[in-house]
This record gives sequence, C-alpha cells and structure tokens, in this order.
Amino acid sequence: MNESIENRIERLQTGGIIDMHFDLPMDLFEKRERRDVLRTEFLPEFEAGNISIVGAAIYIEDRYLSATGRTRRGEPQNGLRVALDQIARLYAETEASQRFAICKTYREVQAAQEMGKIGFVITMEGVEPLGTDLNQLRVFYELGVRAIGLTHARTNSAGHGGIFAPSGSPAEGLTPFGREVAHECEALGVIIDLAHINPAGFEEILSITTKPPIVSHTNVRRYYNIERNISDEQIRMVGGRGGVIGVNSILVSPREEESTLDHYIDHIEHIAELIGIDSVGIGFDFFAFIFRQWPESRQKELAAKFTKPHFIPDLTNHSHARNLTRRLIERGFSDADVEKILRGNWLRIFKQLL
Ligand SMILES: [Zn+2]
Repeated sequence: MNESIENRIERLQTGGIIDMHFDLPMDLFEKRERRDVLRTEFLPEFEAGNISIVGAAIYIEDRYLSATGRTRRGEPQNGLRVALDQIARLYAETEASQRFAICKTYREVQAAQEMGKIGFVITMEGVEPLGTDLNQLRVFYELGVRAIGLTHARTNSAGHGGIFAPSGSPAEGLTPFGREVAHECEALGVIIDLAHINPAGFEEILSITTKPPIVSHTNVRRYYNIERNISDEQIRMVGGRGGVIGVNSILVSPREEESTLDHYIDHIEHIAELIGIDSVGIGFDFFAFIFRQWPESRQKELAAKFTKPHFIPDLTNHSHARNLTRRLIERGFSDADVEKILRGNWLRIFKQLL
C-alpha cells in the first residue's frame, strides 16, 4: 500500500477520537459568569484533533467540601451544589452551540457522530456530590451521568483513593455505602470507572459486580509505580472482564524527561501486550489548561498533595491528538488497531452498557 502517512492520519482521524476523561465541567463552573466558553475556548482544539466524544467529568475540589454548607449529619452539601452547577453549565454551554450534544445512550452517541457533533458523556470522579444518599445517584443518572468512579485520591463516603506513592493506601475496600453505589450503578446502567480507587476497593468492586468495568484514565505501574496507577494484575482483571483502560497523559513517568509521546504509547503497548488491543483506549486527562490558570501557590499545593504533573509537550491538549495517531502509525500499529485505540473500544463499551 502506497498511501502516504498524511492520508492515513487523515483517514484514521476522520472517524473521530474518544477521550474518556476531561475536567471540562469544573472549568465551565469556574467560568460561570462568562458565556460561550465551550465554543470559544474548547471547540478549536476539539476540531483540530477530530475529537468526537468526551467523557466530561464532574469533580469537586477540596475547597468546596470545606466546613461551609454541611447538613446536620455532616455531609458536604456544598459538593452537591457545585456538581449540579457544573452539570447546569455543561447543558447551557452545549445548547448555546450547534456543535455539541450530551449523550445518554449509545444511540445518542451514534447520532452525535452521524451529525458531526462533539458528544459529551457525563462522568463523575468521586461520589462526594452524593453524600451518603443513594437517592441522589438516581437524580444524577436522570441528569445524564453515565460513568462513575467512586473516589478520587481522597477518602469519601464510598471508599478510599489510591495514593500517589508505591504503597500506603488504606487496606480496606469499600464502605457499605460504596457497595450500594456499585450495585445501583449496575442496576441503573451507569458504567463503573475504576480509576483512582485504592487496590482493595478495585478488587472489591470487581467481586460484587458483573459488567465490564472501565478505567477511564490511568497509567501503568510498570512505568510509574504509584497506587493511583494500575498494576499488571489489575490490568489482567479488567481484561478478564472485557473492560477498557484509557491511558492518561499526565502520569506517564515520574521523570519529566521521560514524559514523552513515545512513552505514552509504551503504556498503550504494555496494556495491549497483557490483555489485547481490544482493551485499551484513551483517557487523556488534559489538565495543563487548568493548571496554568492557577497561581503558583496552588500549583505547588497540588504537587505537594499529589505529585507534580509532567505534561507531554506534544500531547498537552486535544489539538495534539493527531500527533498520537501519527506516532502510532510510525510505530507500526495497523489501521485496525489504531481505530480501536482511538474510538472502537470505547464505542464497544457504550454499545454494551449504554
Ligand atoms: Zn483523575
């Protein structure tokens, strides 16, 4: 086949790219006094990268869970309000432009793709907005949340997050509420996302559920050995259940000089070698745009609390998705494999579960 690499990139990009983790709603919330943020600040990069579906993650920062606004029983009520506002902004911004759609079913994902729209699948990273009230899960389902990770790095009412060190996460798994959330997600048709949860919680979720799980955004411990990432054993568990793992762009290596596009692809290759090409996708977790909006003091706070993120120079925002496609081709991935990584595997999960 004599097709030029440019043609191959173009052809593979045209089908669209699915990124299952993006902190979009929290940025829209922070910019809630402004209008048309999605179209003016995000659309150009989405279009340049042929992004078709984005996992838009509801996430509540620590400062919104502080002493203010707690209920009598002490649940962080403010987290609920911020989550609702994040969803409200996502709907308002989506409706302000013809270029976007919120997708709640596989059929809606297909429709968005057919119409050339950029679709959002709403996800939740940490169940802080639910407090300890399972009824809220139903409400968020009605609002469109279709994937839930029980925890971020911190401990909450459902369980414990994996820490940013090789060991030391709490040895226990889920709380009784966490188990209820896992069961209810399966009953409602919410995809369970194993990103961030500590190793004990990871295993417990798999032991009490039956559907394919996802890990929306993670890296492999083989190359960055922290509990926030996943071990070969965990990768095999996801593969054994027909799940999909999205590779994260910001925890590729503890070393800045090793945080490269090629090393990102090493993570993809490692997962594919362990459990096959059908189980690996993309969860870019592009975060530089938020990080750079912060004052230095907050950047340092994040580094102290978790770790210093190393952004990959040529894989820092959605317009860079083409660089990934090009490099996958250069490294010898077949067209069929590239398509699975860029979208096919996530589409299979949507078809099975949404
Ligand atoms: Zn995350």
